[in-house]
Order: sequence, then structure tokens, then C-alpha cells
Amino acid sequence: MSYSFEKLPQLVDKREGMRERGEYIDYGVASKKVRVWHHSLTEKYLGGSDAEAFAAYHVNTNGWPGIGYQFVIEPKNLVKGPDGKMRARIVWCHNPGVKSYHVGNSNKMSLGICVAGDYRKDKLDEATLLSISELHAVLVKDGIGDTDKSHNEMPGYSWKDCCVFDYEEAIKFKPVTKDKKPEQLPGKYTVQEGDTFWSIAGNDGAQGVTVNDLIAANPNVNPRKLKVGQVINFGKAQNAYTKKPGQPKNPQASYKYPLPSDVLKQGSKGIGVKQLQNALNAVYFKCGTADGFFGPKVRDALRRFQMVYLPYEVDGVYGPNTRRKLQAVLKSKAG
Ligand SMILES: [Zn+2]
Repeated sequence: MSYSFEKLPQLVDKREGMRERGEYIDYGVASKKVRVWHHSLTEKYLGGSDAEAFAAYHVNTNGWPGIGYQFVIEPKNLVKGPDGKMRARIVWCHNPGVKSYHVGNSNKMSLGICVAGDYRKDKLDEATLLSISELHAVLVKDGIGDTDKSHNEMPGYSWKDCCVFDYEEAIKFKPVTKDKKPEQLPGKYTVQEGDTFWSIAGNDGAQGVTVNDLIAANPNVNPRKLKVGQVINFGKAQNAYTKKPGQPKNPQASYKYPLPSDVLKQGSKGIGVKQLQNALNAVYFKCGTADGFFGPKVRDALRRFQMVYLPYEVDGVYGPNTRRKLQAVLKSKAG
């Protein structure tokens, strides 16, 4: 039979090979009712703060058959998990049903877990907290023990300075996940995984930031190529494009920018291209000086316009559909 805890990447099996002078009796895992948490009272980075040293002490000095704990968590020995996070090594010392010595009269019913360190001075680090919580979770899953207690919560041990650390908090520990939202600066927005101008604008719909606002407030940002961690203007984006309330519409806008009715594409030239350039510039899809030549800049601006307004027709070619949209946008645009 194998236990879930055996799959922990930070677990090392040292049931054989550590100092011993006899054999503890195994009463079977069903004998265990309480998971008892200890600390070692040896500072966590010192030489003697690991399972080997505890085994030597328990055998040589105390005269016990072997180390007193089923598990020892070693903060000074780190193991990198498959998720890249560091974990304190967990040394597996005895089968879970073994009656080893760590809480006097309660040994038979108690599973002993020792976190190396002196937590009157030491602090639990993240790698250790992760190992505590992960070991706890798999012990629960494996049905080893029904409840958790610190050494000094066991009958007759209220005098004992063990385990000192807050084991109830520690067993609940959850590491900070990578997709935690970055700190946002006022008036700025830091681009996160999966963001688009559309999703960013949507995040703040109540304040009325639109995709056009964002594009207008961030002329140097290519909405198609947002990078995680990139900071864009957000607070100032509001109304950068959208009309302020009460501001009259500009009915002249569409007349100020007449649009050609022919199809235009890269290589086209003439008055129609010039009109298109003026119109694109007027709605903040900047394409450079209106020189009447349909070059890469015009194509790029047109594509950006299509990405926003005609997302299924992004071809960089100006035709009837693009004309209709551009006309509508010119009409709704202020100024
Ligand atoms: Zn203890």
C-alpha cells in the first residue's frame, strides 16, 4: 500500500539508515488519532538542525530505539518542486503507525511531526510553510490522525515550549500564486497575461473608458502587441476620446473629412488616399502626413482601425464596409 504523502516532491525516505539501536512497535495507522506538531529548539540553520542530528541525540543521549518523530521538516534543506517553488525537505523517519517517543503517555495515538528550528527566535519561511501545509493536506487525505495539536496541548505537557509556532495558521498556508495582480499605479494600468485593450476597457466600463479612449491616450502602444508588465495610460484615457457630457456633437466632422468611394490599398495614390489619411488621423489612427500615397503606415493604421471596428475584416484594404464604419466614427467623434 502506498500513501499520498509519498508523492510529495520534497519527501525523502530515511526509514532505513538513520541512527537507531532497536525497533519501535508498529500498531498500524488506525492507532493514530492526533498529529502532534513540534519544533526542535535548535536554530534552523545550525548544523544540528536536521533529522540525522535528532536521531543521533534521541539514540545516543536519550537511549531511545530511534528518532522520536515520524516526519522532520528541514528548513535548511530546500527542494525545488515541479512548479518551481522551493520547499523545505521532509524526512520520512518511521511508518505512520509506529509508536515512537515524542509525547510520553500519548505516543501510541500520536503522530510526531517536528519542524526543525527554534521558533522562539526563528520565523517560518515560505518554503517551510509550504511543506507544513502540503504534508498536513496529504496526511488528512491518507486518513492519518483525526486532529492536530501542538506538543503542549497534549495531556501533561502544558509546561512545554513546543511547538511555539502557530501550527493552525501554518497548516492552512497557501503560497502566493503567480497570477496575483500587480500593484496598479494611479492613472496607469499594468498589462497582465491575456489582456487586450478590449478587456482592459471592459474592466472599467462603469467609468466609461472605451477602447477608443485607450487608443487615443496611448498613441505609442500597439493594441495588437501588448506586453505583460507594460504600463499604459488609463486614468487619463477617460474622455481622451469619448465626448465629455454636455459637449455638443460635431455634425461637421463627417463633412470635414469626406471619404472616397473607391477601393484603396497599398500602392494606391491620389486625392482619395489623402482623404483617407486625413480621416484616419482625425480618429486617432495615426498614419503620418496626408501625402496621398497609400504606404505601409496607412495600411497599418487602417488595420488597427479594422481591428477595433471590423474585427472580422482586418485586411488593411479600404472598401465599402471600412468606409461606412469610418464615416460613423467620424460622426460620433468630438472635435
Ligand atoms: Zn515537542
